[in-house]
This record gives sequence, C-alpha cells and structure tokens, in this order.
Amino acid sequence: MTDRKNSPPETLVRRTPFPESVSRAVVTPLQPSVVYASPSPDALDAQYEGRAKGYTYAREGHPNAELLAQKIDMLEGAEGGIITGSGMAAVTAVLMGLLKSGDHILGGDQLYGRSLRLLTQDLPRLGITASLADPTDITAMAAAITPATKLILVEVVSNPTLRVADMVAIADLARKHGVLLAVDNTFTTPRGFRAYDYGADVVIHSVTKLLAGHSDVTLGYVSAKDPAHRQMITDFAVTTGLTPSPFDCWLAERGLYTFPLRYDRAEANAAALADHLASLPGVDRVIYPGRADHPDHARAHALLGDRPGNMVSFVIIGGRPETNRLIEAVPQLAFAPTLGDVGTTVSHPASSSHRALTEEARAAIGITEGFFRVSVGVEEIEILKSDFSAALAAI
Ligand SMILES: *Cc1c(COP(=O)(O)O)cnc(C)c1O
Repeated sequence: MTDRKNSPPETLVRRTPFPESVSRAVVTPLQPSVVYASPSPDALDAQYEGRAKGYTYAREGHPNAELLAQKIDMLEGAEGGIITGSGMAAVTAVLMGLLKSGDHILGGDQLYGRSLRLLTQDLPRLGITASLADPTDITAMAAAITPATKLILVEVVSNPTLRVADMVAIADLARKHGVLLAVDNTFTTPRGFRAYDYGADVVIHSVTKLLAGHSDVTLGYVSAKDPAHRQMITDFAVTTGLTPSPFDCWLAERGLYTFPLRYDRAEANAAALADHLASLPGVDRVIYPGRADHPDHARAHALLGDRPGNMVSFVIIGGRPETNRLIEAVPQLAFAPTLGDVGTTVSHPASSSHRALTEEARAAIGITEGFFRVSVGVEEIEILKSDFSAALAAI
C-alpha cells in the first residue's frame, strides 16, 4: 500500500491532455467544450483582433458548427455561412439582423407557417411592417413593394401546394428597387436550386429537413453575399444565442454526407410515386412540379431543370372519414408534419400545418380536407407504390 498521507496530492479535476496517436481519427471529432483556454492575454488579443484564429466561447463559434457551415457553403456556392439552432433561428437572424424599425418586408404568401407568423405578428410589434404576396404572380409582388421595402423573403416551392415562385422576375424586381432578396431554399435544396446564381443576397435553410435528413436534429443555416450583411446576421445570432449545439452540428454533418445520394433517390421515387398516385382510383389530383399537368411545370423546368424535388402532394375524393382511413391503413408511413426524413412521411395540412387558417382561407390556396403532402424517402419504390395503393384502396 502506498502511504497516501505522504504522496503528492492528486486531483481528478484537472483535465489531462487527450492521448496522443500518430494515426488520426477518420471521423470528425465532436467538440462539446463551451470554453477555450488561450495561452496568454496577448494571444487572446490576437484572436479577438482577427490576427490569429481561435475559438473562445461556444455561443460565438465552435469547430463542429464551422465545419458544417463550410460544407453547406460548398453546396450553395457561398462563403462565411453560419449554422443556427433551427431553421427559424436562421430566418430570425436574417430579419432581425438586417432590418430596423420603419422598414418593410415583402414575403411570399405561402411561406413556412412560423415565418408567416414572424412577419405578420412579431415583427410589426417592433415597428417592422410586412406584406404578403403570391410569388408566382410578379404583378402582385411588384404592387406590394413600398418605398420602405428593404427585403423580399421567398421560398422557391411553396408548402404544401408546391407552386413555383417566379424567381427570375422576383430577382429582377429586387434589383430594380435596391431591395435585398432572401431565399429560403429548404424545399429545393442546393441540388435543385442554386439561389445565388439567381440573384439571391441571402440563403436560408432549415438543416433539420433534407440536409441533415434523419429527423434527429433541429438546425438552420444562413449565408449572405455581402460580408457586411454576414457580420450583421452573425452578430445578431451570437448576441441573442441563436447559435447551435456542437452535438447537433456533428450529427447533421454525418447526415449531410449522404444528402446527395438521399436526395437523388428520393426525387426519383417522388417522380415515380406521383405518376403512380395519378393512376389510382380515389385520387382527384396529383401535384408534382415535374409532371406536365402541374400549373407551373414550364417554370419548374426552367428553374429546377430535371430536379423537381422529393415533395408530392395529392388530393383525394372525400372528407375526414376517408382521410382517417387512408392514414390508418398505412401505419408504416409516418403520419408526421415534417419533411426531408430518410423515410417517407405523410402530412395532412388541414389538421396540422394549416389548421389555424379558416376553411375558406385554406380553400383559397387549394388545401381541402382531402389534401395530403408526401415527403418521399429513399425506400424501394415498389414498396412505396404498394403502400399507397393499399392506402387508397382503404378509403
Ligand atoms: C421547417 C422549415 C423551416 C423552419 O425550420 P426549423 O428547423 O423547424 O426551425 C423554415 N422554412 C421551411 C421552408 C421549412 O420547411
């Protein structure tokens, strides 16, 4: 037995260096540290003054977020993008970072529900006014511009009606009026639409969806063309704590590796499933931008080429009893109001994302009780076809 009384004091509290290894880990390390120790006050000065690169505090930045942002930058053709704690944190950082009291924002009238709420209920409290207009109708968009308009926020493909915004005309409109164009590219992804090539000033993502792809992280991304805008957005996100957890970034990076494979497969499945649904009895209408019967098919083709995406909507003949039967018939298809998961999910806007709207307001944009939205996943297509055949047979 050692003489504990006379041996030097021990402590478990001091962190010991990571064991050395001449071989390196293949997988990105997860770095959960909130704080970073600097070698000296001089070294810290150098970090803060940008003469040396180093992390200080995780809310200000950490390697897992930086790595993930760089990968999404690469997909978007962007520089200096940042990761946020959610897609809504990205939308918030853009609007609150770039706008001030007295400014006006023009949004697409079918933006993501929480974006709509932010524009129409939260920002007005702070003196930022908002109008909404149909982004497939450039005349309506142009009419909604005011002398105070500073920013246009649009999604390329609307949720859940899958209408395709007139992006070329909207970018022209923004340029003509000296208004910033922010594109929420969540649905289309950089594989379908490269927003910066179309004149976007800011690109936003809910990384939660297709990019991470496994429904196990909530994250967002934002980048801006102008470094001054980047700084304003980043400062707002860091100050208000919209920044992400290292673990979420690490998981999302893992998901992102297979994003192109997942997206291509899901998209091919979506095209085949859309045609299959159109052939089934009980289906009144199929909405898929890649189909010739889509109202914006020509524009979808011009903007997205052969990348119409993984989202398919369809309308069945019938009311609540039929919609219940359809969902109950296929418990293997998750009935969940999300999108972009590796597996297929089905949502019913009238009872979920659009339940706050009146029936008339829903009808005005084509959402009836029989309306379903499918986020198509990477399953074998024959399995998906037979699932939906069974679902339609059950009603
Ligand atoms: C989900 C979604 C968001 C919000 O993202 P969260 O990660 O859920 O905060 C924003 N825009 C679009 C188009 C979305 O689908």
